[in-house]
Amino acid sequence: MAKSWYPVIDYELCIECNACFNKCSHGVYKLEGERPVVVYPEGCVYGCRGCQKLCPVNAIQYVGDIGGKESSGCGCCSC
Ligand code: SF4
Ligand code: SF4
Repeated sequence: MAKSWYPVIDYELCIECNACFNKCSHGVYKLEGERPVVVYPEGCVYGCRGCQKLCPVNAIQYVGDIGGKESSGCGCCSC
């Protein structure tokens, strides 16, 4: 089954602050130079918006996001 929820970064907006990389404890992101890259989408917790909430330029969207879904986080890492 394809992964139904994981982040996608808009690099047109990203300022490479690395807040998303530093936030996520599930190994979803890896740094390539100064740039965070989604390398492990399977690790993302369905409904979690922990990294999106920290992004200062709203560069993170989610595959599977149909809008209106709210979550306070995944509950396992204080996202
Ligand atoms: S949404 Fe949550 S689990 Fe998914 S990458 Fe962001 S911080 Fe990690
Ligand atoms: S939090 Fe946003 S601006 Fe910062 S590195 Fe991640 S995607 Fe880029």
